[in-house]
Amino acid sequence: MSQTVADLVRHAGVVLKAAGIEDAPREARSLVALALETQADRISVMARDAAPAAAMARLEALLERRTVARVPLTHLTGWRDFYRHRFEVSSAVLDPRSDTETLVEAALEQPFDHVLDLGTGSGCILLSLLAARPGAAGVGTDISPEALAVADRNARRLNLADRVMLLHSDWYEGVEGRFDLIVSNPPYIAVDEMAGLAPELSHEPRIALTDESDGLEAYRRLVPGAPAHLRPGGRLLVEIGHTQAADVTRLFETAGFREVAVMRDLEGRDRVVGGLMPAGPP
Ligand code: GLN
Repeated sequence: MSQTVADLVRHAGVVLKAAGIEDAPREARSLVALALETQADRISVMARDAAPAAAMARLEALLERRTVARVPLTHLTGWRDFYRHRFEVSSAVLDPRSDTETLVEAALEQPFDHVLDLGTGSGCILLSLLAARPGAAGVGTDISPEALAVADRNARRLNLADRVMLLHSDWYEGVEGRFDLIVSNPPYIAVDEMAGLAPELSHEPRIALTDESDGLEAYRRLVPGAPAHLRPGGRLLVEIGHTQAADVTRLFETAGFREVAVMRDLEGRDRVVGGLMPAGPP
């Protein structure tokens, strides 16, 4: 008997659930849509249609990559929805997490014209900010040329290329001018935590996840370096691991930042530290 699209979704759901995939029903629809070369929101309409044999074969291959190799769904589909837009992602960039939307929202609470994003990866933070602020321009740096290529395609797709400059750089190296906002989601996982992470994370660039040390090395460079790149009254906002608020707050205060504040993500965990560079000498 021929299988329907609904049968495929059920089958995929069972396989994904048995493999311990958390959101098996949603991922099942996404993978069936990918196998059918359609969009996930079309699946309900197509539920009773007969599934072509080629799609069934494609689905089996996708299920194997997802459950055995533990390739993240986003790498199979090639995109991730983040904040208000869809971004191309690949194994060259950190997969945008919804936690990072806390950083975007905090940044958009104040005006800015010129923003610097250190370690931009897919560009999801910088491009979300520029899309929300039509008058603003920005610079995104990354040490990875492969990541910058992804960010560049995202900038073009979102029609933001004329307001973005992407720079191959190690943090502030080669960054010119002063900004009224600096943002970053640096690698902050301590090296001894890496082994305990979900297997999916092994498909993301290690350099985007860990500093190979205690998880604070990036802040030790980003935070003291910020005043030389900020206009008076400019702000620095960084994403943090949820146990790092006290250490990162101290780095901000030592660097002369005022109004240092910790913001929480939707799960109520410390996620962002922000501070202001005073307009005059402190
Ligand atoms: N939030 C990511 C995670 O816990 C880590 C990202 C980062 O190091 N910037 O998987």
